[in-house]
Amino acid sequence: MHERFAGRTLLAAVLAAGASALIWFSACTTTPEPGPVVEVAPEELPEEVGAKGADPVEVSIVVEAKPPPPPPEYHGVEYTAVTSALPGWTMESLPEEDPPVSRWTSGLGGEWIFAADSRAAHFRGVRVWLSWPAVFDGKSWLVSRPDVQSTLAPLSAAVVTDYFPTRQRTILLDPGHGGRDTGARNEDLDIMEKDLALDWAQRAGRLLEADGFAVVYTRYDDRFVSLEDRAALARRNAADLFISLHFNAAGNPDASGIESFVLTPARHPSTNSGGNGETGALPGNRLDDLNLLLGYQLQAAQLRRTGLNDRGLRRARFTVLRDLECPGVLLEGGFLSNRQEARLIATPGYRERLAEAVREGVLDYFRHLPEPPPETGR
Ligand SMILES: [Zn+2]
Repeated sequence: MHERFAGRTLLAAVLAAGASALIWFSACTTTPEPGPVVEVAPEELPEEVGAKGADPVEVSIVVEAKPPPPPPEYHGVEYTAVTSALPGWTMESLPEEDPPVSRWTSGLGGEWIFAADSRAAHFRGVRVWLSWPAVFDGKSWLVSRPDVQSTLAPLSAAVVTDYFPTRQRTILLDPGHGGRDTGARNEDLDIMEKDLALDWAQRAGRLLEADGFAVVYTRYDDRFVSLEDRAALARRNAADLFISLHFNAAGNPDASGIESFVLTPARHPSTNSGGNGETGALPGNRLDDLNLLLGYQLQAAQLRRTGLNDRGLRRARFTVLRDLECPGVLLEGGFLSNRQEARLIATPGYRERLAEAVREGVLDYFRHLPEPPPETGR
């Protein structure tokens, strides 16, 4: 009986009034809100405490259960230990990294890497942007609770399931820009994003059709299509996936690499905004988990096929993604503002590799779903 209490740090006080005694255990005297109160039978008292009661028969004891500590908070959101977010995973610290870096493995091929004070995490070798930085408090690694729910949990659950579609799937390919909207340009090479994106889409479409997919395009020639109409075409064609194809441009001519965007979850800041994430749920947020899995597989496939710099899987509230009723992603296949990459993008061979990446990413998406997709069309 005594041993039950030996390991605890409870403070005991005995209040005797007349023939009865109230014994109050408090885990923390400064706790503003006491935890649940538990009645304990007198015979469960530790002996030396019970012995102080005037009359054992009349003693009534109230034990205050230790309240759970409040969840840690950083950057204005609740955090949780990675050990709770990824139960059963094992951690190793990567030596001599500053700030510190930790690597977590599931034993089933899962791998997360977190860097302290950084939103850039890696899942199985692909950069995935968290909405809030990982934290190392000197003892434990922590991640924000919203990131666990929106990113760590769904990606960690994406194991190989091989649920290959038995119903024919419709893929909507959306070559960016068109007509009067040229998109990014490289004047030196005289190339425009709208032409290169269309070529990428047509190459990807041919490969997907050869694999048995039905392919629909938001445009198949050089014409202007509004952003709203592009999303509406996904609905009208009952598309199973929406894939928007773009090339990047930046003021910094050294900016380079591949990035993919999926819709920002509700109340999360977008990757490039530095915002506070106060936006509520949009229609496309019903598919947050599937958006993430699609974006992850397409980012991974593009990196494999091109070997370019990994700018990561990001979140944004792009108009074409906001109202989708199917999973959607926007791909950026390199920088037209970067001299070296623009030369690469100008070659048909590179755009064919990007097209193969789209086909591969789509197949990987269907092979890694956490549960079988519905087999009936909408
Ligand atoms: Zn674009």
